[in-house]
Amino acid sequence: TTIGTALRDAARRWADGLALASRHQGLRYTWAELDAAVDRIATGLLRLGVVAGDRVGIWAPNCAEWTLVQFATARIGAVLVTINPAYRVNEVEYALNKVGCNVLVTAARFKTSDYLAMLREIGPERLPHLRATVTIGGEAHDDFLPWSTLDVPADSEALAAAAAALSPDDAINIQFTSGTTGFPKGATLTHRNILNNGYFTGQTIALTEADRICIPVPLYHCFGMVLGNLAALTSGAAMVYPAEAFDPAAVLQAVEAEGCTALYGVPTMFIAVLGQPALEATDVSTLRTGIMAGSPCPVTVMREVIGRLGMSEVTIGYGMTETSPLTTQTARNDPLEERVGTVGRVHPHAEARIVGPDGRTLPIGEQGEYCSRGYAVMLGYWDDPEKTAEAIDAEGWMHSGDLATMDAAGYVRITGRIKDMIIRGGENIYPREIEEFLLTHPHVADAQVFGVSDERYGEEVCAWVIARKGTELEPETILAHCRGRIAHYKVPRHIRVVETFAMTVTGKAQKFEMRRMMEAELG
Ligand code: ATP
Ligand code: MG
Repeated sequence: TTIGTALRDAARRWADGLALASRHQGLRYTWAELDAAVDRIATGLLRLGVVAGDRVGIWAPNCAEWTLVQFATARIGAVLVTINPAYRVNEVEYALNKVGCNVLVTAARFKTSDYLAMLREIGPERLPHLRATVTIGGEAHDDFLPWSTLDVPADSEALAAAAAALSPDDAINIQFTSGTTGFPKGATLTHRNILNNGYFTGQTIALTEADRICIPVPLYHCFGMVLGNLAALTSGAAMVYPAEAFDPAAVLQAVEAEGCTALYGVPTMFIAVLGQPALEATDVSTLRTGIMAGSPCPVTVMREVIGRLGMSEVTIGYGMTETSPLTTQTARNDPLEERVGTVGRVHPHAEARIVGPDGRTLPIGEQGEYCSRGYAVMLGYWDDPEKTAEAIDAEGWMHSGDLATMDAAGYVRITGRIKDMIIRGGENIYPREIEEFLLTHPHVADAQVFGVSDERYGEEVCAWVIARKGTELEPETILAHCRGRIAHYKVPRHIRVVETFAMTVTGKAQKFEMRRMMEAELG
């Protein structure tokens, strides 16, 4: 089935149920209303001359229109190109041209970025494929089309004709990876890839039409648009957007006001929500489940999410943009130890194996590269057969670049990224292990460990830590905490107490950036 058909089914099954609440916009849609609105926007796209296979970009923070465009492009077989709202002139020009974007839908501005000014600065001659730019919102702009261009009366005949030509295996979405380890890559995904992944994810956390998912993660990334929007679409749960971008206070307000039953986030988001003084006075008792994914989740954080947010059935998911995204997830009824210490077992209809450097599957318990195969693996990187061939081998296995182990019961532990491993004087050091240890200090709220080049040892261990609100933290305190408790070569040589880490918009710490900054400082 296609995303367009799935939305028709949702409108039939849960017609008057809440589908979407965009709280910062004050917009609400039932499934029937959402389906009808998507028909209008899809008709507007057809009127603009968009045909199946055309690339339609969306460059906007979280909002209802974002999702209307997601479903409308899918309904007529256009390829949605999801563009990071934090991109600046050079990045957006690169992304639009990389995929030959034909139509762009954009917010006028977001935070300090003026999107229209940036597009004017690039200019039409440097965006040769772009035929039209539509702005979200009501304002008039001389050189850009208003939202009303898309919001036109539905033409059911034209829509039916467009839908009849679609196949579930058509490319439907180009998503750029987070850029945690370098330049983002454009993963090309199909209806079958992402619709099924949304479905299995929703099944794993037992979503039904009685659920409301608080989605503070960015929609432009698979966490928001697949695990959020498509898990909702396939289960009848409601999508609740608390704000344009992550805001821990707005998350708490949304949970209380909407009675959210599920909450999503990367670990740093949960840390921020747990750090809100307002938490004590907020009613979060409706929370039952959720997904934490995207980067390693410290055990201490997981315990607080269960204990203080009351998310007794919370799950951890692991995956990557290239696999639609999740390939493993913990289950609601997994024993606590597995739920807090692993990323769960492989998803239905997916395969996984852990391989050694020679490409052979390793024995149970041994650490190697996590690879997965099955319906969820992307078609490839857009217009980049070389990178695709590096990532997906001849037998269809997607190589993750992540180090992992699998136990006899099938539970997977992610032990770090191959790229992040520190080699100090010939000794392999896994940052994750040291981060978990640093977090056992009561004054440490968050920690990042990475390698910096060192004349003597090749690399040295460096730690950046963020102090818990209202506590004092000195590098000396951290050192004293480490000495005698972890092997001497793992004790961070350079320690900085910082306010924030270098982050991607998806909320991941960019170690390559922090490494660059530290190396510049150390000389
Ligand atoms: P880029 O590929 O551009 O460097 P990225 O890999 O962070 O960025 P994504 O596709 O958004 O881009 O993220 C996938 C990666 O996130 C995985 O390969 C893994 O390293 C990490 N990850 C995701 N979920 C988890 C998890 N639960 N535990 C540990 N790591 C995770
Ligand atoms: Mg990656």
